[in-house]
Amino acid sequence: MTGESGTKIGLEIHVQLNTGKLFCRCRSTGETHTGTRISRRLYATTGEMGKSDSAVKFETFRNRTFEYLVTENSCLVEADEEPPHHIDGEALETALVVASKLDCILLERVFVMRKLVIDGSNTSGFQRTALVGIGGTINTSRGPVRISSVCLEEDSARKTETNGSSVQYSLGRLGVPLIEISTEPDIKDEEHAVETARAISFVVTATGKAHRAAEAIRQDVNVSFGHGRIELKGISRISDIKECIRAERERNAALGSAISILGERTGNETFNLTLRDVSELFRDTQSRVLKKGLEAGNQILGLVLPGMHGLLKSGDFRLGRELADAVKTVGLSGLMHSDELPGYGVTEEEVRNLRSMLSPRKVDGFAIMVARVTDIERIRTAMELRLAKIITMDLAETRGYNPEIGTFFLRPLAGSERMYPETDVEAIEYDQKHVCALSEKLPRTPEEASMEISRKYGISRQDADTIFRENSLALLERISEISSDSRWATRFILQLKGAFETKHGKALSEDEIISILEAVRNRNLGRESMEKALDLVYAGKETPLSVSASSSIVPLSSQELDTILRQILDEGGPGSEKSRIIASIREKSGRPFDPSTAMKAYDSLKARAGK
Ligand SMILES: [Zn+2]
Repeated sequence: MTGESGTKIGLEIHVQLNTGKLFCRCRSTGETHTGTRISRRLYATTGEMGKSDSAVKFETFRNRTFEYLVTENSCLVEADEEPPHHIDGEALETALVVASKLDCILLERVFVMRKLVIDGSNTSGFQRTALVGIGGTINTSRGPVRISSVCLEEDSARKTETNGSSVQYSLGRLGVPLIEISTEPDIKDEEHAVETARAISFVVTATGKAHRAAEAIRQDVNVSFGHGRIELKGISRISDIKECIRAERERNAALGSAISILGERTGNETFNLTLRDVSELFRDTQSRVLKKGLEAGNQILGLVLPGMHGLLKSGDFRLGRELADAVKTVGLSGLMHSDELPGYGVTEEEVRNLRSMLSPRKVDGFAIMVARVTDIERIRTAMELRLAKIITMDLAETRGYNPEIGTFFLRPLAGSERMYPETDVEAIEYDQKHVCALSEKLPRTPEEASMEISRKYGISRQDADTIFRENSLALLERISEISSDSRWATRFILQLKGAFETKHGKALSEDEIISILEAVRNRNLGRESMEKALDLVYAGKETPLSVSASSSIVPLSSQELDTILRQILDEGGPGSEKSRIIASIREKSGRPFDPSTAMKAYDSLKARAGK
């Protein structure tokens, strides 16, 4: 078991910004596919320093093709058919303000670099990134945590599908600005990591420029428990950080014990594995996975795992999963091993036959997998390399996290030779005093933030608090500007939007909402018409494009209102009572009107009728 003193934890927090994209003028939202697709293949080149990175080699080894879905918010820049435009000024300013707020030393000029990425998540094979600040700090209840850097970078394309060796990505997210804040390994434990992540993401949220999408904040955790640095990638919920670190700590400890037992049994010398075709034992198998594999023309390969009996999957031991990770890198879906067999439809008799064919010793384990005989060499190499790394307790690598299964292998750690200058973008100069002045104006605590919102928009503290917590500040700003009514904008965000969604079982994107409101405003119609237009689109009776031309959103004139009121009064009954009159007009006309005008008209009609 590793001592607590060997533990090191650092964070890398990525927050998407809601400004335009970083190097073209596309919007950062609106991921509707246009139907166009682009196919690419990427090749590794050596970096300018002459070295080629192991993460890069790993990807080339996998030999894949990439397909990109073009979206409404993408152009030739995302397709890598056009050089980058100027950097988005608002995004750059936000990154600088964040860096300044974190007490970083701001770089005098901002240089854009290229970071080599060939997993296909960037069409060009690199990601643009710019360092804006270094050497900052953030205060926490357990002391300061040093900030090593603040960068502004392009987000990658979103993976939508993996089909064998072909991977599909959507271009909508590519180029969306991302602020990356990295800390030094000053974090004490998992609770402290959560606190630090919250404090950092607050600083970005306070600028009002953080994206609101569910995946807008992603964090990577760098941990070491004395066996090399492990990069845990893409944890989307801050609250998951705690579980993720704990899971990795337990994995490290369990591997340590498993490897020492394995050492006693085998001396932990280099493993030489022998895979052989055992398909004949499974001709009549009832195991779905094996049967399907055989029908597809694959074979069942089996092998002895020296000294690994009981270490593959029992108690805390999970060597089986480590080996499964290895075979997945060469395209297999996984393996079945002796600690879990019989199982998965494999019978006791089949296991007995397998044993007598492979003849493992008592301390040995064994495994089977669906593959092609021609892949034996690749599988053997992948498994032997994985074991060689683990028995020396070299656990450094990049891993993912899934709350259901814990952490899992993604790829080797990326080295530093992946960066080289972006020659298509000039060094950027900016006004440092202006940035510092902006950063001083930012709220320091969530309370201060909501106080500021409440004052600026004339809304209650409680509403302001919710708006800030739900990161709806940017939406409030946009809707207030269109409707010139912050209170209505607040009511829409906090009540109407949810009510429409529940009533019609449908959600609209923020961009759709904004475009509907703008179209209504451009017809010089007020907020009753805006509400009506939204209702029609939520109900599916109109589209965001057609709704502004609809006659149903034009408010009733005073004559029309009078006519309808007279009809209602003539009909009599409960619908003509004062308490029901608004609902009755709404039902009868289906068009917007000002309720207080309607009440006045009602009163005067009643007064005249009474005479
Ligand atoms: Zn674009």
